[in-house]
Amino acid sequence: MVAIRRQIHARPELAYEEVATADLVAERLTRWGYDVHRGLGGTGVVGTLSAGSAERHIGLRADMDALPIAETSGKAWASQVFGKMHACGHDGHTAMLLSAARHLAATRRFDGHVHLVFQPAEEGKAGAQRMLDDGFLELFPCEAMFGMHNMPGLPAGRFGIVPGYAMAAGDRVDIVVRGVGGHGAMPHAAVDAVVAGSSIVMALQTVVSRNVPPLDTGIVSVGAFLSGDAPNVLPDTAELRLTVRAFRPEVRDLLQQRVTEIAHAQAAVFGARAEVTYQRGYPALHNDHEKTAFCREVVREWLGEAGLIPDAAPISASEDFAFFLQRVPGCYVFIGNGEGAEGGCMVHNPSYDFNDRVLSTGASYWVRLVEACLPAA
Ligand SMILES: [Zn+2]
Ligand SMILES: [Zn+2]
Repeated sequence: MVAIRRQIHARPELAYEEVATADLVAERLTRWGYDVHRGLGGTGVVGTLSAGSAERHIGLRADMDALPIAETSGKAWASQVFGKMHACGHDGHTAMLLSAARHLAATRRFDGHVHLVFQPAEEGKAGAQRMLDDGFLELFPCEAMFGMHNMPGLPAGRFGIVPGYAMAAGDRVDIVVRGVGGHGAMPHAAVDAVVAGSSIVMALQTVVSRNVPPLDTGIVSVGAFLSGDAPNVLPDTAELRLTVRAFRPEVRDLLQQRVTEIAHAQAAVFGARAEVTYQRGYPALHNDHEKTAFCREVVREWLGEAGLIPDAAPISASEDFAFFLQRVPGCYVFIGNGEGAEGGCMVHNPSYDFNDRVLSTGASYWVRLVEACLPAA
């Protein structure tokens, strides 16, 4: 397992370019007796294993893509491709599901059909949506789907399983404020886009505090404010880039409405104009309550109560497994990657590395989940 994980780690591939990784996955699955389907979402691989006679189908999903980050971990198995690295642990996710695949093929202690889904492009490029658009559920109708992601800062090999909304929807907003450029010494003859843009930034701070109901959660973050260059020139445009997050769909709609209204109205106050481009990204990830209870029970029966992180909470980042869970009930769990020096470095950090000590626990979870979900007669 460690060898496969490190092999994938050393050869990171970005979204929709996971050719070598998909080759490795498909080759192993074929060798172990799976029916292998390729091409959904471009580089996606689905391996199907059947046992017994039940006409029941479940899906387990891992993601395969890396990130455009230059690795600084210094590990012997560090990325050999400059500017690309497995900084989110998808190398570990792929290795865990492959290891489970091998064990399931050797033991076959279940009754039904298991679809192992190796997905491209989780990082911002919606590979899950592409697989669905390409007919994943028509080819592989699943009664339930399950996902797993490592989480640095949580104890190694313990599980955080959150019912209901477990991860946020993530939307992107681009606002262009158009004023009238002019001389910094003669502002009365200009329409200052910097002042109008600044006013938008400040007014946006009231959306969550004044519009979102106090017991709900939303996030409006301005990550970029681009305008001007010279001290004595009033620029005619200012560009703002936002990320907006919410859990409940009603809150997501409310944020879109208020962010758009504020941008237009604040610009108008100064005689400027705002152009707002609102792009909806991943939806919020919703764990089915019954499936969540089931996954918790699988862990409890195997590791005892200590296997579960008691105060596991939702996370305000986004995850495209949410697209699968919009169509099929299921549960997405977090597996602790460790704390401090052992696995505590946060994902998307250039020093991050998946904790190999977690591999066997994650693979075992997959196997136990299949055997519990599709019990052998
Ligand atoms: Zn990531
Ligand atoms: Zn990830």
